[in-house]
Amino acid sequence: MEFKDFGLAEPIMKALAAKDYSVPTPIQQQAMPIVLSGKDLCGIAQTGTGKTAAFALPTLDRLSRVAKHTPPLTCRVLVLSPTRELAAQIGQSFRDYGRFMRLNVATVFGGVPIHKQIRQLSQGVDVLVATPGRLLDIISQKAFHLKGVEVLVLDEADQMMDMGFIHPVKQIVSFVPKERQTLFFSATMPKEIAALAKQFLNDPATVSV
Ligand code: AMP
Repeated sequence: MEFKDFGLAEPIMKALAAKDYSVPTPIQQQAMPIVLSGKDLCGIAQTGTGKTAAFALPTLDRLSRVAKHTPPLTCRVLVLSPTRELAAQIGQSFRDYGRFMRLNVATVFGGVPIHKQIRQLSQGVDVLVATPGRLLDIISQKAFHLKGVEVLVLDEADQMMDMGFIHPVKQIVSFVPKERQTLFFSATMPKEIAALAKQFLNDPATVSV
């Protein structure tokens, strides 16, 4: 199987060609058709397997097809990540894969001044990658809302729980419209993570690599 078999939009194929990627990794092969179909996904995969592209490519495909103006004070895609390093990497991946699209990607995390991030978000964003605590701070300042979210991605869910983000994550998810696509990734699936997945996902397909 090759990337061209997925029928991805032209700008995304161009970005993949520029990166010299032609063959999808196993998680990409399994997850991408599901995400492209609009279904919810529970993916059990470690970092290094190519899981970022597995959710970023189909999500960008959706943005490119369902064209809308970048909404003010909200985002269309929200990715939650446990750490600032991972958030920065995911943001960079969206920028790379979306470089031939008109796309506004923002990344927010703690430890840096919040007012700059708020100013950046006020322009409106297509894709927001955030750590849970900082995103809640921004929302509580009424500087941003989540009513525009069409796709919600929870990356490294087990890590987010280990770091004590369960309450912020649940609160954030409660602010996102119920009618959405949810993509849930975790390296491990102990009982409490499976329960969380069950709470957030609607009739998901599960893939494991
Ligand atoms: P990730 O697991 O998402 O952190 O990705 C691991 C690394 O694999 C990243 O450096 C990606 O850029 C790279 N990568 C992802 N998908 C592919 C692919 N299909 N072919 C080659 N490299 C890839």
